[in-house]
Amino acid sequence: MATDEKAAGAAAGEGPARDFIRDIVKADIDAGRIKAAVTRFPPEPNGYLHIGHAKSICLNFGIAEEFGGDCHLRFDDTNPAREAQEYIDAIERDVRWLGFDWGRNLHYASDYFERLYGWAEDLIRAGKAYVDDQTQDEMRARRGTLTEAGQDSPFRGRSVDENLDLFRRMRAGEFPNGARVLRAKIDMSSGNINLRDPVLYRILNAPHPRTGTAWHIYPSYDFAHGQSDAIEGITHSVCTLEFEDHRPLYDWFIANLNVPSKPHQYEFARLNLTYTVLSKRVLTELVRGGHVGGWDDPRMPTIAGLRRRGVPAAAIRDFIKRIGVAKANSLVDAGMFEFSVREALNKTALRRMAVLKPLRIVIENYPEGKSEELDAVNHPDDPAAGTRKIKFGRELYIEQDDFMEVPPKKFFRLSPGNEVRLRYAYFVTCREAVKNAKGEVVELRCTYDPATKGGNAPDGRKVKATMHWLPAVDSVKAEVRLYNPLFNKPDPSGGENFTADLNPSSLEILHDARIEPALLDAAPEVPVQFERQGYFSRDRDSTPEKPVFIRTIGLRDTFAKDVAKDKTAGK
Ligand code: ATP
Ligand code: MG
Repeated sequence: MATDEKAAGAAAGEGPARDFIRDIVKADIDAGRIKAAVTRFPPEPNGYLHIGHAKSICLNFGIAEEFGGDCHLRFDDTNPAREAQEYIDAIERDVRWLGFDWGRNLHYASDYFERLYGWAEDLIRAGKAYVDDQTQDEMRARRGTLTEAGQDSPFRGRSVDENLDLFRRMRAGEFPNGARVLRAKIDMSSGNINLRDPVLYRILNAPHPRTGTAWHIYPSYDFAHGQSDAIEGITHSVCTLEFEDHRPLYDWFIANLNVPSKPHQYEFARLNLTYTVLSKRVLTELVRGGHVGGWDDPRMPTIAGLRRRGVPAAAIRDFIKRIGVAKANSLVDAGMFEFSVREALNKTALRRMAVLKPLRIVIENYPEGKSEELDAVNHPDDPAAGTRKIKFGRELYIEQDDFMEVPPKKFFRLSPGNEVRLRYAYFVTCREAVKNAKGEVVELRCTYDPATKGGNAPDGRKVKATMHWLPAVDSVKAEVRLYNPLFNKPDPSGGENFTADLNPSSLEILHDARIEPALLDAAPEVPVQFERQGYFSRDRDSTPEKPVFIRTIGLRDTFAKDVAKDKTAGK
């Protein structure tokens, strides 16, 4: 990981992004083929956006900004059976939150239904499209394979008049779902299966969020996409590699229709991340099946989930810039993403103390009823962030993990007889561990050295550990949610069986954590650093009685640790 991070850091640099798509755009501008780049981000509103979409968003909006043009937000709302207003609203919110602005260019493929329909009739009149009555199975049986040509449909020879009549009646709603389709008449023996008479329109008697019950037929993605680009004057239609084989069809429509401009399609590699599935189908299943609390569950790789988790938009943009844009598919280490998140948060997050699994300690030589205020630094690299007061007293909490009754060799934290520094406070020595009937340590009896106030001994003696702590009375009980990767495999299956790869301990809830009182009014989505623990943010599930903090990210690379563990396990 360390070398990857260094390489990535060097690559990100300060300068503008460079990649093969930007090179193409620049060449088009330099050659005078276009004056400015016009791009679009075309989500289907059938789910929430995920971090893979962020790559496409940063690329499309980035190019438009750098090359003097606009980036349109266009909803590809051609399948009302799967789409909903909730998704449209969420997508707009997420693109804006990522820091991008489509200005007046908010579009919907459904705005173009009438023009698309007109072009379909044009194709019929030109003898380049026909109505096919075959069932889906019959069509599939005749489609052929990668090595075998397909066979013509028995309906391929229909006259223009018959095709027009049937197509108009399809539009009018005379036929049940799936009874017929409109297909382009291209070439059933083409080496590219996408050119074997692709479907242009399907019958679907379903209301549409925007066009209501006006339509009984809906265009296919292929028929809608390029023509929508042409209507909007898109210069570079940038999409992911799986559409590469669709490009000849995209070009066929542009060449065979009387469209107002001639856009070109370019493909780049989609983002894949380890321990993550970036497929809307799987993410939808996770939500519907109750495997997560919703689209914005902080474990989800959705933009809404990352935002709720406390990941800053700047960290997502930085990550996308670091990974770059290439033509070959690859799998990006989730540690790279964490690196960008830590980089952003380390600079901005205020430091606080929280004890996640508290162990009570009593300072026997500290007077009962007394307390004093100590100064704690808000940000070690930013004096302007100032200091705050923390109350020290006779009864404190430390982290259970910071004590061991029988310490192994390199354990320098608290153990009987050992002295440590409590951050911003004093040196403290453990005198005795008090146990309950089950033999568990429930309390430590300690002493402190009043001469070490502020954390240094006048006699110059050293301690090997500095620990965080909180006062027992003047701290607040909180729920803390620790998130671990949602999947327990670096390359989880995105197939039917994806639940088999779900990590059963992706969420760990601590009910008795203690936090500084100042954290009660922390803003949600703005993480603070719990010293020695990681970055945490107040969740909106908080109530005045029960604050809830969620772990945005730990201090160290979660995934590097996993690799180390795997190695010791001999994997
Ligand atoms: P599905 O997951 O069902 O295949 P999708 O993620 O492709 O759907 P769209 O709404 O069609 O969903 O995506 C909008 C745009 O985002 C498309 O141009 C698509 O190429 C791009 N995109 C989707 N996933 C990724 C990804 N992982 N990396 C980069 N771009 C992506
Ligand atoms: Mg898609």
